[in-house]
Amino acid sequence: MSEASFLSQVDCDLLVIGSGAGGLSTAITARKAGLDVVVVEKEACFGGTTAYSGGVLWIPGNPHAKRNGVRDSREAARAYLQNETGAFFDAAAVDAFLDAGPEMVAFFERETEVKFVPTLYPDYHPDARGGADVGRSILAAPYDIRRLGADMARLRPPLQTITFMGMMFNSSNADLKHFFNATKSLRSAAYVAGRLIRHLKEMLVYRRGVQVTSGNALAARLARSALDLGIPIHTGCPARELLTAHGRVSGAIVRGAQGDLRISARRGVVLACGGFSHDLERIRKAYPHLQRGGSHLSPVPAGNTGDGARMAEQAGGTVAIRYKSPAAWMPVSRVPLGGGRFGVFPHLLDRYKPGVIGVTSDGRRFTNEANSYHDVGVAMIEACRGKKETAMWLVCDQATIGKYGLGYAKPAPMPLGPLLRKGYLVKGRTLEELAQKAGIDAAALRETVRDYNQGAARGEDPQFGRGATSFNRYLGDPANQPNPCVAPIGKGPYYALKVVMGDLGTFDGITTSARGEVLRDDGAAIPGLYAVGNDRASIMGGNYPGAGITLGPIMTFGYITGRHIAGLDGQGSMRDAA
Ligand SMILES: Cc1cc2nc3c(=O)[nH]c(=O)nc-3n(C[C@H](O)[C@H](O)[C@H](O)COP(=O)(O)OP(=O)(O)OC[C@H]3O[C@@H](n4cnc5c(N)ncnc54)[C@H](O)[C@@H]3O)c2cc1C
Repeated sequence: MSEASFLSQVDCDLLVIGSGAGGLSTAITARKAGLDVVVVEKEACFGGTTAYSGGVLWIPGNPHAKRNGVRDSREAARAYLQNETGAFFDAAAVDAFLDAGPEMVAFFERETEVKFVPTLYPDYHPDARGGADVGRSILAAPYDIRRLGADMARLRPPLQTITFMGMMFNSSNADLKHFFNATKSLRSAAYVAGRLIRHLKEMLVYRRGVQVTSGNALAARLARSALDLGIPIHTGCPARELLTAHGRVSGAIVRGAQGDLRISARRGVVLACGGFSHDLERIRKAYPHLQRGGSHLSPVPAGNTGDGARMAEQAGGTVAIRYKSPAAWMPVSRVPLGGGRFGVFPHLLDRYKPGVIGVTSDGRRFTNEANSYHDVGVAMIEACRGKKETAMWLVCDQATIGKYGLGYAKPAPMPLGPLLRKGYLVKGRTLEELAQKAGIDAAALRETVRDYNQGAARGEDPQFGRGATSFNRYLGDPANQPNPCVAPIGKGPYYALKVVMGDLGTFDGITTSARGEVLRDDGAAIPGLYAVGNDRASIMGGNYPGAGITLGPIMTFGYITGRHIAGLDGQGSMRDAA
């Protein structure tokens, strides 16, 4: 039971609503600057979507890139963002992000438990003006969550569908390579065996994996840092409405286990509720595929129901649907988990692999499948214009599924039978049989595979240019030459898997200043009210330039907003203030 449940009135300097990366980075920064901070969290566990994420942050000019001698410049990153965001380029916010990003990383690594490691991720459009082949994306370092002590039980577990028996993979490619090579290399087999044995021991003792990676490590590291600073994180305490006094937002009413609590906050309130992925009314208006009557499946935790946006509107703030892509699209599949439950699987890896293609029910390819999840999502919405359903089928042959798996289906020797019986996968001895079972146009699929195979035999994809960029190739199979993303579809049997639209979080959101002040229609700041994380409109203009473009800005603006509220704008080092 949380501590707050015994109180009916709490006083603090700053109330932060939501315990993801947005809320906790703001809370930690403000606390380090001397404010008395309280965090309330709606769900029984802290961490939000952040704990489900890959834990990658896009921070051009980050200290790790500098130490590793990566050649990059602020000008190049700015030109890239200008190109990516087009008409939505917000110079003040982009400049604030580029200036404070590296400083934010240095601050957290120096002053808190939050640590990062470099990655080899290219930008998602590395060939565009200002794009980079490496250096801008960093990853939360793995973490032993036993360091949370009793609070370990309150950390949101990782997204079930992307673990293997509860074990997490690292978002860096190195970890996954061993798993894909386990049947071919002794070294990889030994690595995998070691990881599995350690994990099974953890499950026996703690009933969950305790060596966590990616976003789970980021959420745990942020929570440890907040708790070390004496910031209470009151879980199971949803904020219901904002309080105002003397023309400013002065706190909130929060539901606790024993009834409503009144939390008064002298400096104001930060909305960090993680966006509106599960606000059905708002997404029905905002998402083009829902307007056409189709479906949407979000892996974002169900508690992200747009409470921040609603509270901001009630206080006079604006929430505009302005971007062509109001959310970060993620093609997903619906995984039957047994007992009537299902999970949402984000297709982060399979689309890039040689021998896997994506077709609509017309049996036609429609895009470069090795583009980013967001770009494939945009293309899926476009390709299914005029249809009720927005969906694609991933198709491959027996050898390919055995080698790389497909969606939730793991590579050989893991059996495919259970997923075939539950209808997750469809199998056909011939392409015609596969198409007929899946509801795909059979003649068109046969033609598509014939045409694709002609180029693929030479390692080329003349239609969509798969494998053309360093990003395409990064998640392909480097052993597959000359093109890590292209191989012919060979002998049957064949497999197909239905993929629908999902999201990683919303891009549209509350209108704020660069510093995070919630703005009215007329551009005036609402005194005492701030928004961070996905509650605040993204600076990416509805585009997805690279790995970590939500969490990078989220933690950077958390840092900027925390400093602003503490009165440190324009002042140098946080070390002096702490
Ligand atoms: C599978 C997956 C992988 C991803 N990988 C990456 C990645 O590697 N890099 C990247 O940049 N982005 C990634 N994302 C997106 C990223 O996780 C989110 O953009 C980010 O975590 C959002 O942070 P946040 O703090 O805004 O929200 P959240 O982390 O969702 O936190 C919001 C919190 O607010 C709480 N809350 C809601 N309403 C209330 C209320 N009324 N009162 C109190 N609390 C409330 C919620 O319960 C939640 O805990 C990924 C997303 C997914 C699903």
